[in-house]
Amino acid sequence: MQQSKNELIIVGGGAAGLAASVLCARNGIDVTLLEQNDRVGKKILVSGNGKCNIGNTHISTQRFHSQNPDFVEQVLQGYDASTVKKFFHAIGLELVEEKEGKLFPMSMQAASVVELLAFAAQEAGAKIVCNCTVKHIDNIDNHFTVETSQGTYTTRRLLLTSGSVAAPKLGGSSAGYAFATRMGHTLVPRHPSLVQLVSEERWVKQCAGVKLPGIATLFANGVQTAQKEGDLLFTPYGISGLAILDLSREVSLHLAQFDYCELSLDLMPRFTKEQLTNLLLGRIDAASHKPITLWLQGVLHKKLVSHILDVSKCKAKTEKELNRKEIGKLVYTLKHLKLSISDTKGFEHAEVATGGVDTSEVNPETMMSKIVKNLYFAGEILDVDGDRGGFNFHFAWISAMRVAKTVSI
Ligand SMILES: Cc1cc2nc3c(=O)[nH]c(=O)nc-3n(C[C@H](O)[C@H](O)[C@H](O)COP(=O)(O)OP(=O)(O)OC[C@H]3O[C@@H](n4cnc5c(N)ncnc54)[C@H](O)[C@@H]3O)c2cc1C
Repeated sequence: MQQSKNELIIVGGGAAGLAASVLCARNGIDVTLLEQNDRVGKKILVSGNGKCNIGNTHISTQRFHSQNPDFVEQVLQGYDASTVKKFFHAIGLELVEEKEGKLFPMSMQAASVVELLAFAAQEAGAKIVCNCTVKHIDNIDNHFTVETSQGTYTTRRLLLTSGSVAAPKLGGSSAGYAFATRMGHTLVPRHPSLVQLVSEERWVKQCAGVKLPGIATLFANGVQTAQKEGDLLFTPYGISGLAILDLSREVSLHLAQFDYCELSLDLMPRFTKEQLTNLLLGRIDAASHKPITLWLQGVLHKKLVSHILDVSKCKAKTEKELNRKEIGKLVYTLKHLKLSISDTKGFEHAEVATGGVDTSEVNPETMMSKIVKNLYFAGEILDVDGDRGGFNFHFAWISAMRVAKTVSI
């Protein structure tokens, strides 16, 4: 049995755990970081398509979701994108701003984020132990006993940064939730977010590979609840694309309550109904025998054409048979194409999980548990998730900074 009297044990070497290791070790804390994977920061490595969308300059509480929005507001108070830039500058990583305020490492390589974080932590004296799965945690007489696959550690202070259940192949796990609940914490239900959606409709499979800009509107039990604009990508299982990922949080929450959701897709978001009607009417040559399918290919991907004609119940077989009424039906379908959603692609494919440790049980100033003294939380283990665009990493860095400030006093 391995015993150690570390000042701070950190469970989970992802974004929050690494940032906390650097800052705490730099402040003279004796840090041991325990990571189950063979290397730290696996989610960081694949994030932002390998470039790591590390943060965002447009920080506002609206970009974060929690049952307790006041908690998020208090955690973020006084810590904005400049705080994140300063932290990374201090470890030797420069950031650049791209569209929509998204921050990336100047190297455009997620690997540089992980390598510089790990180097800074170790240089400051933090001990990083990989291939070390934490199996059980006890809190007795103000001391934590941490049982791992590499022996038992004891510590006076413990930080849980074991993340969420999303993306299990990269280390996503529910272990942290179990440790927290065993020590008296409650959980807000977890659902996959930033995830692709599943549809059983056959036509979607035939359109697999088609990608176009659009607007997706969510109807749950017939009521419109959310709308997002961006790419729509039809796939063999259903639908993906940035608009869909952005809508997926709402879809996940609704699917948990109702067993069925429907999307209405606007495939022509650049045109109003009137503009689209005029455009299509202006394309009719009353003398042309061009097949209607070919005529529609002049404005729409070939794979979508037959479904649009079917749904519109278009009777015209050739261009010259088209009239204002037929055009009206086509325009309606192109602006309101229905797609039923039966599921999401689940935690396996999700970038983040909604829910987690109930933040009403955590002090937003210090990130310390209100239930167990010297137990801290940071990152996605908490009931806080952010929008796509660097907001999830922003929360991980900032919550870790709050812990470091507290434990270093
Ligand atoms: C494919 C993908 C792309 C993403 N892209 C972005 C992006 O560009 N921008 C953005 O802001 N967010 C992005 N995210 C989300 C972001 O990665 C997470 O929100 C963030 O990593 C959360 O940080 P964390 O430290 O809380 O958890 P994690 O980074 O998940 O770290 C938790 C760590 O704890 C370890 N662990 C878990 N259980 C145990 C245990 N029992 N014992 C020991 N170790 C354990 C895990 O192996 C893991 O390394 C992406 C996520 C995915 C999956």
